[in-house]
Amino acid sequence: MTAPRVFPPGSTVGVMGSGQLGRMFAIAARRMGYRIHVFSPERDTPAGALADLEVAAPYEDEAAVKAFAAGVDVLTFEFENIPARSVEWAAAHCTVRPGGHVLHICQHRLREKQFLAAAGIPVAPFAPVDTQAELRAALEALGTPSVLKTAAFGYDGKGQQKITSMAEAGSIALNGPSVLEQFIPFAGEVSVIVARGVDGQTVTFPVFENIHRNHILDITVTPARIPPAVEASARALACAVAEELDLIGLLAVEMFLLPDSTLIVNELAPRPHNSGHGTFDACITSQFEQQLRAICGLPLGSAELLRPVAMANLLGDLWQDGEPDWAAAAAYPDVKIHLYGKRGPRPGRKMGHLTALARETDSAIAIAREARASLTGKRLG
Ligand code: AMP
Repeated sequence: MTAPRVFPPGSTVGVMGSGQLGRMFAIAARRMGYRIHVFSPERDTPAGALADLEVAAPYEDEAAVKAFAAGVDVLTFEFENIPARSVEWAAAHCTVRPGGHVLHICQHRLREKQFLAAAGIPVAPFAPVDTQAELRAALEALGTPSVLKTAAFGYDGKGQQKITSMAEAGSIALNGPSVLEQFIPFAGEVSVIVARGVDGQTVTFPVFENIHRNHILDITVTPARIPPAVEASARALACAVAEELDLIGLLAVEMFLLPDSTLIVNELAPRPHNSGHGTFDACITSQFEQQLRAICGLPLGSAELLRPVAMANLLGDLWQDGEPDWAAAAAYPDVKIHLYGKRGPRPGRKMGHLTALARETDSAIAIAREARASLTGKRLG
């Protein structure tokens, strides 16, 4: 077996996708002296603004994907919904990490659930659903309430419907191949971000506690308010998934914490994750630098948390009555403002985030919320 390739600073890293995750990855990569090329269907993007080269072409454009891959040393992703064929085209011209097999699993809920279940990782009871008859049978088997999710291209609760009774089944419109999942009455939601290097070494970040609003992540805080034994199980679960996937790169594992303190894996994302944004300001190594180290074959950095941190997402809704009052948030000395350089602040669109560093979890959350509310002159948001 040949030794895995190492790409030292000075190498060129390609990123598929050009949103805020690619932007923060580019910041980390540039700081370490790498060159960055980004590829997505859009122009003038959050990541493109920081890249040495921004290519705007469809992911299905074979010639453009091949030319892009030929111009980089190693290629990674900020977004997993890249067609498998495009990844194959790229892999013929450069190293691709994580490998196409990881994307193939993580871009499809049913494949992901089947993979996790086969690996003995706890998941919500589920059934594949392609037709109305299958939906009825799945509801009989799993009971109500249940959640129907489209198998492909779903995120932030998009393509999801909660079904509370058998009687509703007839009026449910199926949007292509789907998965029915038992509704989990969870006590909380957490995520673990794990990096796995070319030598199989894994490093986990501290567990993030996630608070959603309208199915979109609103606040993340770490240390999570969970017992040490749960923290250890969550980290172990994430490492087990990374190993099963034979991952080289970064993986976010979203989990439900049940009232009896057991954990169930909800979703995987083989890339940096919104819940890990606080690592930029609060950990020795950020999730973005860790992704870079992993895919470049460098030793992984310490993921130690230096101070408790809470992150509050800034959605386009905040712009409803005009430009937010940035000076108001900047007046909080332990708050950092991160903006993604997006021009159109549409409701629900992730425009940026704030991180608040504090002595402990509860005050970090309170400061993050207060600083965000100050942007629109409100007392709490
Ligand atoms: P997802 O798109 O799978 O990440 O789901 C988005 C959010 O919907 C999750 O963070 C949960 O808050 C909720 N959710 C998803 N699946 C379930 C489930 N099986 N039971 C209860 N809540 C769920």
